[in-house]
Amino acid sequence: MKLLATYTILALTIPQNAFAAQFADTVMDATFKLFNSASTSTCFFVRNSKPDASLYLVTTAHTLERMNGETAIVVLRRRDDNGLYKRVDHEIVIRKGTRIKWRRHEKHDVAVLAVDDSLPVPVTAIGIDRLADAERFAAEGVGICDRLFVFTYPERFESSRAGHPIARQGIFSSPPLLAPKSSPTFLADFTTFPGDSGGPAFIHGKDGKPLVVGVVVGQQYHDERIDSVYESRVVKHPFRLGLVLHAHHIRETLRTAANSPQVTKETTESLRISLAADDWGDAQKADILNVLNSAALPLWASAGKPGLRPVSVLSDSKGPLVAFDRGEADTYKVLLNVKGRLWARFAFQFSHEMCHILANYRDVPNQQMWLEEAICECASLYSLRAMGESWKSKPPYPNWKSYAASLTQYADDRIAGAPVVSSDNLQEWYEQNKGTLDATATNRELNLVVAVRLLEIFERHPQAWRVVRSLNLGSPSENSSLEKYLSGWYERAGLEQKSIVEDIAGLFRISLSPR
Ligand SMILES: [Zn+2]
Repeated sequence: MKLLATYTILALTIPQNAFAAQFADTVMDATFKLFNSASTSTCFFVRNSKPDASLYLVTTAHTLERMNGETAIVVLRRRDDNGLYKRVDHEIVIRKGTRIKWRRHEKHDVAVLAVDDSLPVPVTAIGIDRLADAERFAAEGVGICDRLFVFTYPERFESSRAGHPIARQGIFSSPPLLAPKSSPTFLADFTTFPGDSGGPAFIHGKDGKPLVVGVVVGQQYHDERIDSVYESRVVKHPFRLGLVLHAHHIRETLRTAANSPQVTKETTESLRISLAADDWGDAQKADILNVLNSAALPLWASAGKPGLRPVSVLSDSKGPLVAFDRGEADTYKVLLNVKGRLWARFAFQFSHEMCHILANYRDVPNQQMWLEEAICECASLYSLRAMGESWKSKPPYPNWKSYAASLTQYADDRIAGAPVVSSDNLQEWYEQNKGTLDATATNRELNLVVAVRLLEIFERHPQAWRVVRSLNLGSPSENSSLEKYLSGWYERAGLEQKSIVEDIAGLFRISLSPR
């Protein structure tokens, strides 16, 4: 009651000019939340100088690269005549098929996306002249320990129901005026969180207006490795320091976007698959390669397109497997035992082995290896069904559209052939089959039972393939029990993927509360 009274009095005593424009309003009004199912970040609008005068969305490159699909949502705000704000979720196109619409800096983590002006509400944009180049920055006389501000959405948090960003302040924690080419980033001591990426960092300019000095691209950690008898893990201690990329690099990226606005083909450089000159039956090598790329893509893309060593594929009756020893130039060696134009079988075998590669497979004793095998079985089902969808409209060759249905069918037949064990009964099933699972990782029938349940989780959250990357990065000692194995995985998982490991553990009635 007392609180309410205090609040009322305060409200009554707000001076008339309280709503007058503040110096930071332009930056706040130009800053928005940007999200899709795979990623959430901050972005801000910048308008180029005439004659271009186009509107550009600025954010980190990793934000857009992590976003799957063709669209993302920008949370715009509409202000009515009474000064009330309303949130307006607006869909923007970020990709068309494999063609990306943004331009990224060739070295640094910033990207710019041209936005046409047909937005549903008028938006404020920061003029390019308010982005500090090195000269302008120096002219401001800014130095270490001087104050700066950021607008972001820490942990997706919004400061109003209309979706306003949160303002925070800090000081320059590293010298800000070093040459941006050799020192592209500087540090600032504001509390940092996931979701901050892409937010503008700015100072109070000498002319009383805001001057954007950079874009928040990450945070600084101290990694502490703890080795004990049965466990070793890395604890990340946040320094509470934000990493800010110099505005010089935003300006460079804007220039590239303005000069060559054409969309560019997404780089698939990191997925380098080659086929050995083996006997592949009556199938053309180029056709097999198309199928293998198509099978790997749904997994690799959902895993965040990690840079991988080249994969060389051999025809060998010992397959399907991915060898522990590496080929020439440290390439992965995948052995397949398919010959002829059996595209679904090629896709089935290869996506399983790609999953082991994404999971950083290794040669260590592992009683829980059956779980990795089940995830890789799930990868095959996932890829075949994803290919079945994408080939309906975008097959490798126009006359291959008719194969789409058979790819889905291959996966669905396999699922239909699996003994039905519902999620509710999986824990009991596990207890009954634990001995066999621990002893033999590759009992395909048992793995399939788990794979079918995992498929529900992975199809609901394609970013689950990201968390597979950290499955094998712990100490082998955690392989001794399923609970330890899953706990280690949970600890290594990124914040956004922890719930996925929890879902998987939930199938076995294991709860993974943070220690
Ligand atoms: Zn396997």
